[in-house]
Amino acid sequence: MKKADPIPKKSQTQKDLDKEYSKLVQDMRNESPLCEVKIKGVCTGIMEGLHHLQKRTRKNLCDRNNVIRACNACNSWIEKNPLEAMDLGLSISKHKKQ
Ligand SMILES: [Zn+2]
Repeated sequence: MKKADPIPKKSQTQKDLDKEYSKLVQDMRNESPLCEVKIKGVCTGIMEGLHHLQKRTRKNLCDRNNVIRACNACNSWIEKNPLEAMDLGLSISKHKKQ
């Protein structure tokens, strides 16, 4: 039996990215603490994190143009309703023609 590998530690790049992302969240909260998604009947109104318009990748994770302020309720609504989210412009497919 092979010995189980230890859980790999986060790479330095990943750590830097995490740091940059936390700073972005903080900066945006400082500018305005309100949720921008505002799904009717769902939204709690207060920003709790960021929603990525385009599926997050390492490259666009901290791209201001790709994130909007979101409360947890709106965030999970978007996850559960991907088609409606796309209709509302909250979810952008990379392959969509401009
Ligand atoms: Zn909301």
